[in-house]
Parts: sequence; structure tokens; C-alpha cells
Amino acid sequence: MSASPAVLMRLVASAFTVAEKAGAIVRKVLHSGELGIVEKTGANDLQTLADRLAQQSICASLSRSFPKITIIGEEDLPPEEIKEDLIESGHSEEILQKTCPAEYRDLKEEELVVWVDPLDGTKEYTEASKSLHHQTEAQIPNKVLDTSHSTALCLLDNVTVLIGIAYEGRAIAGVINQPFYNYQLGEGASLGRTMWGIPGLGAFGFQLQEVPGDRRIVTTTRSHSNKQVTDCVDAMEPHEVIRVGGAGNKIIQLVEGKASAYVFASPGCKKWDTCAPEALLHAVGGKLTDMHGNAYCYNANVKHMNSAGVLATLRNHEYYVSRVPQSVLQALKSD
Ligand code: AMP
Ligand code: MG
Ligand code: MG
Repeated sequence: MSASPAVLMRLVASAFTVAEKAGAIVRKVLHSGELGIVEKTGANDLQTLADRLAQQSICASLSRSFPKITIIGEEDLPPEEIKEDLIESGHSEEILQKTCPAEYRDLKEEELVVWVDPLDGTKEYTEASKSLHHQTEAQIPNKVLDTSHSTALCLLDNVTVLIGIAYEGRAIAGVINQPFYNYQLGEGASLGRTMWGIPGLGAFGFQLQEVPGDRRIVTTTRSHSNKQVTDCVDAMEPHEVIRVGGAGNKIIQLVEGKASAYVFASPGCKKWDTCAPEALLHAVGGKLTDMHGNAYCYNANVKHMNSAGVLATLRNHEYYVSRVPQSVLQALKSD
């Protein structure tokens, strides 16, 4: 008889199903058209009903199954009774069947920290919603989509649900759900996918691909840019620049061969934005650091802001670190 699965594998198996449930919540709120938007620090820092419900669902579900784990969610929510229909108690049997890397086999629940971004890419989510519901009201004949509408719909792929797991300050597992994956297939299509990874075990739920040749394709923010951000992107001497929303989405671009580097030379991203993406990227040999090339720490007591920016690559990390301008390095100090 085999020994019972390691806590880490049980947690990732649960997080997989919990992220799927959160993804379903994110889709349902979008379709309702009632987003309940609240500005946090300003117009580019939003929270919607989907952010709130998805976080309640993820945190309540995981803490019910793993009561000793520390869970840190992005949204500041008043303590309240969580509705039973938000609780997900299932898990992925397939993940449970995998072998835990030896170094993580004996970890205890109380040693793990879970970083939750219930909806990454909220700004883009609200923009896509506006376009979608405006279009419905206008009753476009034969559902023909105009250009601005289909451009806005692309933003749906910017949205992800991020559940990252840390041990001794390091990101050791990540689950990323992309709720609107396959949105292009139209009505009736089954939407969404879940990707996950553990360094030392591997990454699953997608086909690993690299950008062909030596092309430098830099992906960066579309809604939180400034001169320092664009100057730093230019310093990489990119062949192409892509501006999209979401930290999770940009890491998906790296592992699917759409981009070679994610460059964000500004504070703004938080630990819940980078923990799951970092683990997934690391599981396929990539790297996520600050602009100096230093690793972030994911202990429960660290400050939430990634003050020294985000630099992530699948390959050739050192090249990108070497191109960061002195002015950026001076402005963004490592923790
Ligand atoms: P972006 O690439 O702009 O989508 O940013 C990736 C993640 O970092 C998202 O969760 C953003 O909300 C967050 N973020 C980046 N910059 C800022 C900022 N200036 N204010 C608030 N959140 C930010
Ligand atoms: Mg986020
Ligand atoms: Mg978020």
C-alpha cells in the first residue's frame, strides 16, 4: 500500500479544483453584467464582485481543508460568513497521483504560505465587460462583431486566477486558471483551462514552447505604464513589444512562446501577482526576479509590494538583467 500523499500534493490538487471554481465565478459575474466595481487606490486599481467572490471562495475552501495554512489574499474584505455554495471541497485526482519532489515530501501545513490573486487583470476584465454588454444592448445583426468589440474581447485572455504556494520564502507551486480560454470558439464552447507547476516535478496544462530563433519579444503592462517602464523596455532592444494586462497572462505568454521577457520596471505588482507565475515558470526552467536579478521572498511577513519591479524570462535572464538602465536600478531598490 502506498503512503498517503504529501501535504503539498494534496494542497495543489485542491488548489487546482478551487481555481476552477473561482474561474467559473469570474465567468458568471461577467455574464451577469453586474460587476459592482469599486476603486481601490484609483481608477487603474479596481475591485469587482468577481474579485470579492472568487477570493472568498478560494480562501474559505482552502482554509477549510487545510486549517493550519497561512493564506494571504489580495482583497481586503470584511470578515463575514461565507455562503456554502462558494465552498469547493474537491480535488484533482490526477495531481494526487503524481510523486512529490523529495525535498518537499515532509513539509507541514503550518510551514506553507498561500498567495491568492482571485482575479488578475481586473482592469482588462472591466473593459471587456463594458464592450460585451454594450454590444448586447446594441443587438448587432447576426452577432457580427465590429473591430473594437473583438479587440476588447481579446482582453478576456488577460484574466487569470492565481494561487501560489511558498515554503521558506520560495515559490514552490503555482496554479493558474484562465477562465475565458477558448472564448474565440463562441457560444456553447467550454471555456477555461488550468495550468500548474512545481519546480522539480514539472508543469502541466499547456504545451511548453519557446519564441522561435533569437527574437526578443518583450511583454509589458498596458494599463500601468510610465516613462521608466517604456525606457526600460526599449533598453532591451526588442524586436517586438506586446502590451497586455495581467501578470499571470504575461507568464503564460512566456511559456507558450509568445514572448521572451516580461519587463515591468516599476512598483505595482504584488506578491500575489508573482508567486504562482514564478513557480510555474521555474518549473519549466525560467526565472522571475526584480529588475536587479534578485529573487523575491514570499514569507508571510514580507511587504506585499514588489517594489523593485518584475523581470521574468524563460531563457537568457542574464541578458535582460544586463540591459536594465542604471537609472532604473537606482530608482528601484531591491528589498
Ligand atoms: P499589469 O501588467 O498592468 O496588468 O499589472 C500586473 C499586476 O500588477 C496586476 O494585478 C495589476 O493590478 C498590478 N499592478 C501593476 N501596476 C500597478 C499599479 N500602478 N497600481 C495597482 N496595481 C498595479
Ligand atoms: Mg493581480
Ligand atoms: Mg487581482
